[in-house]
Amino acid sequence: MSRFFSSKYAALEAYVPGEQPRDQKYIKLNTNESPFPPSPKVTEYAAREAGRLQLYSDPDSTEVTRAVAEHFGLSPRQVLLTNGSDEILNFAFMAFGDAEHPFLFPDITYGFYEVFADLNGIPYETIPLREDWSIDYKAYCGAGKNIVIANPNAPTGLSLPLCEIEEIVRTNPDHVVIVDEAYVDFGGESALPLIEKYDNLLVTRTFSKSRSLAGARLGWGMGQESLMQDLNTIKYSTNPYNINRMTAAAGLAAMEENEYYLQNARTIIATRDRTADALRQLGFAVTDSRTNFLFVSADWISGGDLYRELKARGILIRHWDKPRIGNWCRVTVGTDEEMDAFLAQVTQLRKEVLTNG
Ligand code: PMP
Repeated sequence: MSRFFSSKYAALEAYVPGEQPRDQKYIKLNTNESPFPPSPKVTEYAAREAGRLQLYSDPDSTEVTRAVAEHFGLSPRQVLLTNGSDEILNFAFMAFGDAEHPFLFPDITYGFYEVFADLNGIPYETIPLREDWSIDYKAYCGAGKNIVIANPNAPTGLSLPLCEIEEIVRTNPDHVVIVDEAYVDFGGESALPLIEKYDNLLVTRTFSKSRSLAGARLGWGMGQESLMQDLNTIKYSTNPYNINRMTAAAGLAAMEENEYYLQNARTIIATRDRTADALRQLGFAVTDSRTNFLFVSADWISGGDLYRELKARGILIRHWDKPRIGNWCRVTVGTDEEMDAFLAQVTQLRKEVLTNG
């Protein structure tokens, strides 16, 4: 830390992203990317814009915003595109949180929520997940705080039904409820149908997972116009050109080729469920994932050892050395071939551990 760093950030613990190794080729099952490349039209549209990079991008991302709005039956004023969904989440913390408006979220969830709260000096409280990792939705009803819930949740993969999300939104009318739907396309239930009814609901989505654009950085929020105007004020006060030309074009192409991504999501769901069954056969506890990852734990190996052993064998998964989840790992669902290689390594490892132990 330099002597110039503001004291307001002195205690800030930055978010630690999953490894993006460059040293060797791994089967990469650690950051929930899609195993499938973007559709050819994405490359074509983005390449066209590459030749126009001397010009600033459209600060309103008009075309891709219109495409997203049309797709979800909203007006463009109910949609705000951002640089990944991380950015709309940060905008929401900035816009709606302060000392008098703290945030509430589960103790085990997307790690960036507490970083955004700390970054913006916003107090927060967490509510423990139940022992089975489910969200006790009643604990959020009438809580009188801003709330952020990933649905489905990460890294647990579990999903709340729409009726429970609605109860949380309905019983906190004077606070914003953010529903982070980064993984909804893999089997979750969206809160979108509630937008017309509740002015305190913000739904966030991303192009990073089901739409194969993690490296482009594109996400968006949806809510009633007044809420989206506030987020737009924050955007125009930080970085009006937050989405570059190539990314906006890539997003537009991805919306035009929705069927390709839906098909990929169906493939990932089938691979996920098959892999979960195989892992259960190998003595793993596996949650009922509605996402593109599996949350797993075995009684024959610790979470840390599973992560290290697989890394040594060329397979990257995610492990957190944190209370409650130290014995669990998160495994992104890759292609069928990748998951077969993963299962083969796990089977071999189990044989070794049981023989030696
Ligand atoms: N929400 C959740 C629950 C996530 O897991 C992630 C990805 N790490 C994000 C939001 C942010 O994704 P992105 O910024 O790539 O849209």
